Amino acid sequence: MTERPLVYDLTLEDWERWVETQGEPRYRALQIWEGLYRHLWSHPEQFSHLPKALRRRLDEAFVFSHLTPVKVRHSRDGETEKTLFHLPDGSAVETVRMRYVRRRTLCISTQAGCAMGCVFCATGKLGLLRNLSPGEIVEQVLYYARRLRETGDRVTNIVLMGMGEPLHNYEATMQALGILNHPQGFRLGARRITLSTVGLVPRIRQLAREGKQYNLAVSLHAADDDLRTALIPVARRYPLRELFAACQEYFQRTKRRITFEWTMIRDVNDGLEQAEKLVRWIKEFGLLAHVNLIPLNPVPGYAGQPSPRTRLEAFAAYLEEHGIPCTVRVRRGIDIQAGCGQLAGERLQEGGRPLVGTG
Ligand code: SAH
Ligand code: SF4
Repeated sequence: MTERPLVYDLTLEDWERWVETQGEPRYRALQIWEGLYRHLWSHPEQFSHLPKALRRRLDEAFVFSHLTPVKVRHSRDGETEKTLFHLPDGSAVETVRMRYVRRRTLCISTQAGCAMGCVFCATGKLGLLRNLSPGEIVEQVLYYARRLRETGDRVTNIVLMGMGEPLHNYEATMQALGILNHPQGFRLGARRITLSTVGLVPRIRQLAREGKQYNLAVSLHAADDDLRTALIPVARRYPLRELFAACQEYFQRTKRRITFEWTMIRDVNDGLEQAEKLVRWIKEFGLLAHVNLIPLNPVPGYAGQPSPRTRLEAFAAYLEEHGIPCTVRVRRGIDIQAGCGQLAGERLQEGGRPLVGTG
């Protein structure tokens, strides 16, 4: 692995310190930052507004990319594209681009693999390989921002629902989101950024105190501790009562509506008794909430099946009747295995052979 830092790993303050060590005025830092995040430049030669010597130093001291696209999949309708990237140390992460009316949403990864071990998740089966650096999180966005720009388009939303548990890589995730949200950085509004978590209670409380307007999505999947723990091993440490209390703090401090994600698994967590319990929790804690029902994307190594339409609709209807808005997420991109961790998981099943080229 290269010793030189990745350019996207530096905050604006880091750049200010660096230009100073180069004997350059402070405003050069902002110029570099603008080159990276406004102009989306990816090579030191493009920084034509910098003195030649500084440009050369940039080239010598940093690398401009850690992500090598090795595999691309398109959904049949062309609305979803997924890329598997290799990192310099050989680990892999994936990023998904979804197109929906005017939205261009990127689903990005925060870790290679994941330590949380949810039984139905392909990423969970990999275990945690490593945390991504802030720059490696940011570069996934820049990769697609550059691609979209070629057709006059841009990234409108980001969801942290790719591989990994963002709150288990807290510092790097916060730094990456800081760059993406920065008014002089990538300039994507906090309300257009959604962080999805399996429910790490202390970190949700910490996030609530960051003073940011990020959307919070909590992967719930069950409304009683026994069932939840069976699906999400880490839930043993965070009983639902504590989780809902943390969500309440998030809601009270940010005034942002919370999304609860619910992967619908046939005859496991799709019964009305679960819907009833969920309504009770949401009411008890006075949350403004929205529920996202997602039919399970079948994964090798887990026998569960997606809920049939009738059960999905009955569950959704119950929530709606009790005043809780809910969406049944269309299974977009399912034909390209756009489910969490599935492309990288596939690589393991192929015996770890390197995958080159696209499709
Ligand atoms: N670690 C975070 C974010 C990444 S997972 C989290 O768990 O929230 C993003 C979402 O995909 C989560 O809601 C997760 O439960 C869901 N998911 C994982 N595997 C899935 C599968 N096989 N089918 C449907 N949803 C799945
Ligand atoms: Fe990790 Fe999220 Fe997958 Fe659970 S669902 S294993 S937390 S990536």
